[in-house]
Amino acid sequence: MHPTPLPLSTWSQNVSPSPTLAIDAKTKALQAAGEDVCNFAAGEPDFDTPEHIKEAAIVALRAGKTKYAPTPGIPELRKAIVDRYAAEYGFSAAPEQVIVSPGGKFNCYLGVLAVCSPGDEVIVPAPYWVSYPEMVKLAGATPKFVLADDRTGFRLTPAMLEAAITPKTKLVILNSPSNPTGAVYSRGELEALVAVAVKHNLYILSDEMYEHLVYDNARPTCVATLSEAARARTILVAGFSKTYAMTGWRIGTTVAPLPIAKAISELQSQMSSNVTTFAQYGALAALREKEKTAAALKVMMTAFDRRRKLLHAELNRIAGISCLLAEGAFYLFPNISSFGLKDADFCARLLEVEKVGVIPGSAFGAEGYLRLSYATSDEVIQKGVTRIARFCASLKQ
Ligand code: PLP
Repeated sequence: MHPTPLPLSTWSQNVSPSPTLAIDAKTKALQAAGEDVCNFAAGEPDFDTPEHIKEAAIVALRAGKTKYAPTPGIPELRKAIVDRYAAEYGFSAAPEQVIVSPGGKFNCYLGVLAVCSPGDEVIVPAPYWVSYPEMVKLAGATPKFVLADDRTGFRLTPAMLEAAITPKTKLVILNSPSNPTGAVYSRGELEALVAVAVKHNLYILSDEMYEHLVYDNARPTCVATLSEAARARTILVAGFSKTYAMTGWRIGTTVAPLPIAKAISELQSQMSSNVTTFAQYGALAALREKEKTAAALKVMMTAFDRRRKLLHAELNRIAGISCLLAEGAFYLFPNISSFGLKDADFCARLLEVEKVGVIPGSAFGAEGYLRLSYATSDEVIQKGVTRIARFCASLKQ
């Protein structure tokens, strides 16, 4: 007779697996089985890492950069990160304020862990990146969602933020450019939100993972640079995954006020230690060999911009769909509520009938929408929207 299994922890029972990774995996499994699938689910550039970055990591590997390194990152990389913030935003920080972590996801999680305790509330604007609520729960805190739908361009207003704050609120998470909507807050809009956070003495986690993926000559805003008060409370997260097509390398960055940076480094020292040592030399090359990196980014952005416009135009031609033009990242977030179908059912049927993989808005806390990544080829976009149009027409019959 088998004994009754002991229950797992509350952490593992309460955590939800990433729906985006799950749908992407399902779509890829269909592809592997020989199906002709159009995959709009992936959240990563379809470009390879630029050669000079790969080469630097190979050289480092051959040179024996295979040992433990300092937990918060190799000194050269922390210094290069400080230098790039100074050059791009006039933001001066000390290398001790920088932590290099195994992927931006972990940077975000450590940021939450550094400031949140059980019982605290964290304001998570929706549509949100799928991992924020789970990170907050894993810290024992409670996510409080505030939905900003397409009527406000998926951007939270100061009044919406203010209304969600309670005496338990400790942290607000901002993410501009946004995954999943591609929305980009203007500097003025961020100043107004930061003013509310300052008034209520909240920490801010500003996830600027997509800062370099902005269109129409838009300039991203670095939240920590908005004021002295902003700098004193902002945990600034960014990384190499999206800008440099380095998703598999697992390298993210945090810049935070010194006491928070120290706490994050100590947490990381017990949870993962340093990012793969030779990989950090690749990241260093991405920052140091500026011209080569800028050229590679330009190629990628030219393609993303073309696809963004193509997908946006094609989606809006479909009766029943309305879609805002995203200003950043590589996602569109069309409204499909007119079909009167739950978005998860819409996606499941679309994959089954037309072999098109998209993520339901409800995975991001916004029922009635879809997230489509246009980090895929023009051909897939063209073929995929033709199938989506056929599917939508069948729903209208
Ligand atoms: N933040 C946002 C908004 C993201 O979309 C992602 C990745 O999808 C991350 C952070 C984490 O990036 P990384 O792959 O470096 O963990």
